[in-house]
Amino acid sequence: MIGFLYILAIILAWMIGTVSFSFVNVIAYRFPKQKKILKEHFVCDSCETQLKPYEVIPVFSFIFLKGKCRYCGEKLAKRDFINEIIGGLLALLVFFRFGDVNDVTGEFILSSPLDIVVHFDIWKLLILLTIFVFFCILDLVFLVDFDTMEIPNRFVIVLLYVAVVSLLILPGISFVDHLIGAVCISVPMLLIMFAIPGAFGGGDMKLSAAVGLIIGWQLVSVGFFIGLLGAGLYGIVLLARKKKGKKDHFAFGPFLCTGYMIATICGTEVIDAYMKLAAYLHG
Ligand SMILES: [Zn+2]
Repeated sequence: MIGFLYILAIILAWMIGTVSFSFVNVIAYRFPKQKKILKEHFVCDSCETQLKPYEVIPVFSFIFLKGKCRYCGEKLAKRDFINEIIGGLLALLVFFRFGDVNDVTGEFILSSPLDIVVHFDIWKLLILLTIFVFFCILDLVFLVDFDTMEIPNRFVIVLLYVAVVSLLILPGISFVDHLIGAVCISVPMLLIMFAIPGAFGGGDMKLSAAVGLIIGWQLVSVGFFIGLLGAGLYGIVLLARKKKGKKDHFAFGPFLCTGYMIATICGTEVIDAYMKLAAYLHG
């Protein structure tokens, strides 16, 4: 019985993940154009044919329709398909990683998510949902910043609502950790923005302040450096391919969002590994 419930919970988590990220796809396309979000969710983007429910199932419809609209034959966006799969995987990661609230050290405990299923622990469920909503907003920022090179203030405001909830319920992060998190990356970014205009956008700075308030200074720092590393490598690749000159810019937000998600999932392990490496190098 427990095994059955466990598998059911895993499938449910995957479904919530894919459906949520599918919805994030829609908002990401419509938000910059200020279109109505809900009304047009179920039409083909090119021929505007009304789609049947089984034609808009995340992940599966794309496979079933072989990546094409069955009315006009226009290719469906591969990016939406990939984003839906990532949503499912992230929901599973959050489910396994944060099933245990008491674990301050961040160790992976497989038996722990069972508590949610078997005892229906509302508190744990609330923690999982908060972190997953946080990931949905980061995904939205990722896509919109990638498309428009801008992070709308409205997304930052929504993150602040998540921050209020996270102050109350996220385990292992003290109130002071949260507060330092709001300034430890954003303030240095602000100073660098004054020193080197165009180094970062104001949106990146506001995003980092809100994220720091949610996950605390340790994790936001790890996430920032992962993002910086990713953007640096990407910049080198672009320069090597000579697709962009030195004065061109690319959006930094997607790298930040990815870094912040990785740090939320396994930042504690990254810090531990770094400490061990540092201790080893010092003899
Ligand atoms: Zn079509």
